[in-house]
Amino acid sequence: MIDTAEIRPRMLMGPGPSDVHPRVLAALARPTIGHLDGQFLEVLNDIRDMLQSVFQTTNALTLAVSGTGSAGMETCVVNLIEPGDKMLVCMAGVFGTRMKDVAERAGADVTAIDAAWGKVFTADDIRAAFDQHGPFKVVGIVHAETSTGAAQPIPPISDVVHDAGALLLVDTVTSLGGMDVDVDGWRIDACYSGTQKCLSCPPGLAPVTFSAAGERALANRASKVQSWYLDMNMVRKYWGSERLYHHTAPINMNYALHEALRLVLDEGLAARWQRHRDQHLALKAGLEGLGLSYLADPDHQLPMLNAVSTPDGVDEAAVRKRLLDEFGIEIGGGLGEFKGKAWRIGLMGESATPRHVQAVTSALKTILS
Ligand SMILES: *Cc1c(COP(=O)(O)O)cnc(C)c1O
Repeated sequence: MIDTAEIRPRMLMGPGPSDVHPRVLAALARPTIGHLDGQFLEVLNDIRDMLQSVFQTTNALTLAVSGTGSAGMETCVVNLIEPGDKMLVCMAGVFGTRMKDVAERAGADVTAIDAAWGKVFTADDIRAAFDQHGPFKVVGIVHAETSTGAAQPIPPISDVVHDAGALLLVDTVTSLGGMDVDVDGWRIDACYSGTQKCLSCPPGLAPVTFSAAGERALANRASKVQSWYLDMNMVRKYWGSERLYHHTAPINMNYALHEALRLVLDEGLAARWQRHRDQHLALKAGLEGLGLSYLADPDHQLPMLNAVSTPDGVDEAAVRKRLLDEFGIEIGGGLGEFKGKAWRIGLMGESATPRHVQAVTSALKTILS
């Protein structure tokens, strides 16, 4: 049996989780108290306020869902979709594909469009989908596709979606806290994220936010939300002033998120995005110096997720194993189409530092030579 007291720390440079600040780990160990205790309700209020800042929104319906990023995805989908509703899902990697699956399970009538892995969608692609298969109630898209390292520009897509009278649902699990995510400026109607990527908090909560139009869609439903646990009509009555018991909030996870958000806002959003860009450029120079090439389009590379193709004849899994065993560094392998052919190196939150960039570049150099 493993003694968890002996778990060795790693440098977490994969697609998540990322390194966690000691202040966040310390917050996890604070006293567990009741979910209706006034002190805990203050924690929740602070989290809502800080999430509004990080999402750059004034949306009243902003909270942390109990569950990982995928629970955030499911929350946004099941609250906006009623059986038979038409939804357009944009798939350019694993997470767009997952969204299609979630939407179909919720009973949506899904139209899915593809972009080649590593590429992004254009406004014209979305317009063509509306012309051929619309109208849609909801359009779902991934901002930062963690399986390919590509950053999807949201504003031009948002214009098309809103001109057509639809709601825009965006996955910002990997982008939030590491690059600009402007929920109000980009007119996003439902947005979800996760704690374990650029917010640098252990996995376990999913920040979500709904616009006024998103809230109206929720209020105007003819049927109950398909998931009892993720029903925002009920969950919001606990996060709001009614404080109605729904499920017991994961108390200590919320402490951790509270501390992680304080760290994000103390650093400042713009400074944090700049740090991610700087470390990305340093890593990119190092990786290209080793002859590795990026998978995502040069104009759309994510700062926090660097997906590169594995050199011919190199056993990618064996390299990752040596990185972990000999250097204590975790990176990710390829998913889906890129399985066995790629490495995914994360620079998320606490892991976006010169120390991490140096360590992974020199360890890879040693192993590859
Ligand atoms: C990690 C990730 C998810 C899923 O989050 P989990 O915390 O693993 O449930 C969803 N979307 C994207 C883009 C991700 O990177």
